[in-house]
Amino acid sequence: MIGIREAVTHCLNTVPHVVTESVPLEQAYGRILAEDVTATSPLPPWDNSAMDGFALRVDSTSVTPEKQSDIDVCAESVTVDDGGPHLSITETIAAGSVGTEVISAGLAARIMTGAPLPLGANAVVMREHATATGSTVQIHTPASPGQHVRRMGEDVAAGETVMHRGSTLTPAAVGLCAAVGRSHLTVARKPRVGLISTGDEIVPPGQPLGPGQIYSSNTHALTGLILATGAVPVDCGIAPDSLDETRTAFTKAAECDLIVSTGGVSVGDFDVVRQAMRDLGAKMQFWKVKIKPGKPLAFGVIADTPAFGLPGNPVSCQVGFLQFVRPWLRMAMGDPKPFLPVVQATLAHAVSKRAGRAELSRVVLHHDNGDWVASLTGTQGSGNQVSMVTANGLLLLSEDSVHLEQGACVSVQVVGQTLNAQADPGYPW
Ligand code: AMP
Ligand code: MG
Repeated sequence: MIGIREAVTHCLNTVPHVVTESVPLEQAYGRILAEDVTATSPLPPWDNSAMDGFALRVDSTSVTPEKQSDIDVCAESVTVDDGGPHLSITETIAAGSVGTEVISAGLAARIMTGAPLPLGANAVVMREHATATGSTVQIHTPASPGQHVRRMGEDVAAGETVMHRGSTLTPAAVGLCAAVGRSHLTVARKPRVGLISTGDEIVPPGQPLGPGQIYSSNTHALTGLILATGAVPVDCGIAPDSLDETRTAFTKAAECDLIVSTGGVSVGDFDVVRQAMRDLGAKMQFWKVKIKPGKPLAFGVIADTPAFGLPGNPVSCQVGFLQFVRPWLRMAMGDPKPFLPVVQATLAHAVSKRAGRAELSRVVLHHDNGDWVASLTGTQGSGNQVSMVTANGLLLLSEDSVHLEQGACVSVQVVGQTLNAQADPGYPW
């Protein structure tokens, strides 16, 4: 039996080099970037107006309007003659066009949001603070230099790397790549995971159950976990507890980048998974891990395809996936941080365990006075699937720990949408 850290190291040593592909932006969401994305020109590309209004020179507005104190400049619009300066309108500059006239003292160009600032102008007065009549405009507020002007390069400088290799492409990140002109991005190819469930008693949901049979929850929980990790599940079916059929399922799954099976990996009379893996020439790296839940967990390499034999108990299977398979997949996609995040939390109640195995208990993390507090989700049996659904964290207890008092500081791996779970689901406005 080996420790969890040693087992993870064995697994990650088999991760191949990142395979990349170029995809259009609409397929890039959630993918891991496999190149640095650099801006060839600045963003914004030129000084431009942040408002619909009038582009002018600040010194053209320095005549203080006589009735300024009476004017509410926050009002939607100001139309009274307050004695503010009258400027000649040179032209109208729409977004998508470029002004042709230089703005000197006494001149203003009508300008729309996003249009390039005309030469000579150094500020914009919003339309609501001006009154245009024919070819002149009265300005009701003095302007300050740069007012309502978005400066060239204030968001991104030319030559700047806006996204780094290894980052996950959020919608905002994809938007930024589009803004710097990219239509395609080089991302990590999604690893294909051949998924096998085993057991004479295991039946797909939707079919009638025979005596002693249960539905295959693992197939579906693992499918979701593989998708959430960013990989592609390939269903290789449910193999009954026969060596022949298990070998056939593994042979099919070996066409993928990774094999993940559940069940049949313990010491029962019908646990044939390890034998099937060995028959196919697997170099077995380990079998039992000092972890609870999920001690029986086999890992070997069949030809070039690594294979995880996860336990059949649903919680053990999911916990085993999160500790071993997920980091393998994230690393295979070039994620520089392939492990789940860990937060420090205060234990809501005392916890005891036996020394010898690391334990990962299902907890709910909640916020209390700025601190994370962790409470067990209830019965922690490796078949209690509800405990996994309600949990948003896994309490990490080391092999040698035996007792932790209420209030102890503990490490909790974040497995769910912790912040979402804690946020008030009500409409905020
Ligand atoms: P095993 O590791 O095959 O001995 O299975 C351990 C426990 O997990 C048994 O109670 C099995 O019935 C259960 N089990 C195995 N595979 C699945 C599955 N795909 N879905 C739900 N439970 C399973
Ligand atoms: Mg079984």
